Amino acid sequence: MRCKACGRSWPFGRALLSSIKVSGKKECPHCGEEHYSTKRSYHRSGILAVSAFFVFMLLVETFQMRLTSALFFAVFLLLIVLFVQPLVIHLSDEEVLHKE
Ligand SMILES: [Zn+2]
Repeated sequence: MRCKACGRSWPFGRALLSSIKVSGKKECPHCGEEHYSTKRSYHRSGILAVSAFFVFMLLVETFQMRLTSALFFAVFLLLIVLFVQPLVIHLSDEEVLHKE
């Protein structure tokens, strides 16, 4: 994730936090410029969540997982999704452009 105003990339933790907070403004930690996630980013994170869910179902079926291990695996997958999320989120300084 890179700031459009100052060009510096955001620290990973910051990017992670702002990707969890899907809606609303995101403030750059370097220059304080406000940003918005682009519509395409929302779509991509949606696709990511859906595919993670399908992978989960497939693996649970394949390995006939018990409920406890399936739950553990679900948490693990959720963490992966959370860590990949900042990589697919792109910043925009103009929210209006991406409204449909
Ligand atoms: Zn900045």
